Amino acid sequence: MSIVIRNGTVVNATGAYPADVLVEGERIAALAAPDSGLAQQWASGAERVIDAAGKYVVPGGIDGHTHMEMPFGGTFSADNFETGTIAAAWGGTTTIVDFAVQGKGTSLLSALDKWHSKADGNCAIDYGFHMIISDVNDTSLKEMEACIDAGVNTFKMFMAYPGVFYATDGEILRAMQKARDTGSMIMMHAENGIAIDQLVAQALASGHTDPVQHGLTRPPELEGEATSRAITLAKVTGSPLYIVHLSAAHALDAVTQARDTGQNVFAETCPQYLFLSLDDLAKPDFEGAKYVASPPLRPKEHQAELWRGLRTNDLSLVSTDHCPFCFKDQKELGRGDFSKIPNGMPGVEHRMDLLYQGVVKGEITLPRWVEISSTTPARMFGLYPRKGVIAPGADADLTVYDPTARQTISASTHHMKVDYSAYEGMELTGKVSTVLSRGRVVVDDNAFHGAAGHGTFLKRDLSQYLV
Ligand SMILES: [Zn+2]
Repeated sequence: MSIVIRNGTVVNATGAYPADVLVEGERIAALAAPDSGLAQQWASGAERVIDAAGKYVVPGGIDGHTHMEMPFGGTFSADNFETGTIAAAWGGTTTIVDFAVQGKGTSLLSALDKWHSKADGNCAIDYGFHMIISDVNDTSLKEMEACIDAGVNTFKMFMAYPGVFYATDGEILRAMQKARDTGSMIMMHAENGIAIDQLVAQALASGHTDPVQHGLTRPPELEGEATSRAITLAKVTGSPLYIVHLSAAHALDAVTQARDTGQNVFAETCPQYLFLSLDDLAKPDFEGAKYVASPPLRPKEHQAELWRGLRTNDLSLVSTDHCPFCFKDQKELGRGDFSKIPNGMPGVEHRMDLLYQGVVKGEITLPRWVEISSTTPARMFGLYPRKGVIAPGADADLTVYDPTARQTISASTHHMKVDYSAYEGMELTGKVSTVLSRGRVVVDDNAFHGAAGHGTFLKRDLSQYLV
């Protein structure tokens, strides 16, 4: 099967130029100047020609932070691997990296088996895993090696959620030493959960139970403090560090300073922190529950700082932390007690579109859009050059993007299996028109043509940002 994507503007992280893209089987075979004899030859011989005139052709998006079917507080995130990856494809994302979760008292390898059994045969696009470490002990530290051999070489730990995922500084130190010795990387949820739990208890005791309290009891200073502490532990151990879902200017300052002094510290942010704020959490009639995620949405003034971080590369990339819970029956578990609202928001479908608004508004350049949504995730998580670039030999994961189309985000039209949208009614410029996953057209002409089970597990190499 050969496909030619004709007359489009190819956008890689290095820049944009007109080129036709020849796809043979699952891979990109070649690029050619659109007015060349070669391109004309391809077009006449191809089994299918996709006209991309006036459109961008970009490497399929890579969402490095999702939680499909994740257990949380007695319930599960609403998207499973099938619905979540189909929604991702609709939004031009062709790879996700999800988190396998080690339960307390269980092993890393049994967690990995469990997540394989949830995902294998069910994904519409390619997928990989990170591993969440809940129990640091000799066995789990040893098991990190087997995970790395199995293509899972990024390990997430939590300075938040005491009694659930929380790791002490000593445990973090030991895991970082193991990461240093193996070339793998620790990912950190950096919020001071011990202090936060006190603020939460005090708020509840004084009768403050509304969703906005979720934000007020998790002040940005406690994200800044935990980020600094994680950076210090990484420095002491000589380990690289990746800060997940950075939301606060205070945390960004710590990351910027560490990077300026040459430390291997990286951070991602998420669309919700770029576009939503504490004002959304404060919406009346419990509607704020839709916006409960951790770290919480911040006061608006943090947004400009995050965009600045994306421009200066102090923020390396943007993932979603997609972890949807329906408003009805799930978010509602926290009526009368904000601390019982499941933490997480939907987002996997709209990351590319929302980030494109940064191009429209002049916050980032067009190639930087591709870099933070695809190329850097590919390199950060050991998938480049198979993913993250339009080049001969790369997987034909391609998104044809119409930069002038208009769309309005709504739960009534999105494909995520969740009953609300955090961006309901938001009008966007730009829209996905065609998506290929490993050479197969999965979205075209406003219809889904893919299938659960098309996606394959990606055994990832070590991060390519480390020398
Ligand atoms: Zn997460």
